[in-house]
Amino acid sequence: MQIHNHRIDCARQLNSPNCDERPDPEDITLLVIHCISLPPEQFDGDYIDQLFCNGLNPDEHPYFAEIHGLKVSAHVLIRRDGSLVQYVPFDRRAWHAGVSWHQGRERCNDFSIGIELEGSVNQVYSDRQYAQLAELVRALLANYPALSRERIVGHSDIAPGRKSDPGPFFDWQRLNDLLV
Ligand SMILES: [Zn+2]
Repeated sequence: MQIHNHRIDCARQLNSPNCDERPDPEDITLLVIHCISLPPEQFDGDYIDQLFCNGLNPDEHPYFAEIHGLKVSAHVLIRRDGSLVQYVPFDRRAWHAGVSWHQGRERCNDFSIGIELEGSVNQVYSDRQYAQLAELVRALLANYPALSRERIVGHSDIAPGRKSDPGPFFDWQRLNDLLV
């Protein structure tokens, strides 16, 4: 896996409009792991693409009506089969963290990369997702030297009380072992 011009070579590229300039494009110093499934607990389908591109139809599911109008994105989605979708190039600010803080700094979107795993806080992640996540993290560490293995957090770590993803089934030790 290679990153060229802030894009992953092997990812499907689908540009989300939900992004903007980082205050400092050089300041990429945190990785945030999330999970998402649409509708909740269901996998496959194009609904995550639609959400991040503001195309989700509120009439298709009651939950879609609930989140209608939400403008969010992440840099990358890792699907259950391990395939990657990139919505925002890494030098731009994706809108994934919301109200958040890390080591005294607020607004983690400013200085972080957001990675979504297709999944839920109630289910284990797939082997392919772990393998692909480890490869992606390695590529990111090589490209953005201010990142480190110690600067990988869950959404729940930077928005405690408000967010619970990636949840108790995300195996941090397994990720760490894959990165060694
Ligand atoms: Zn999240």
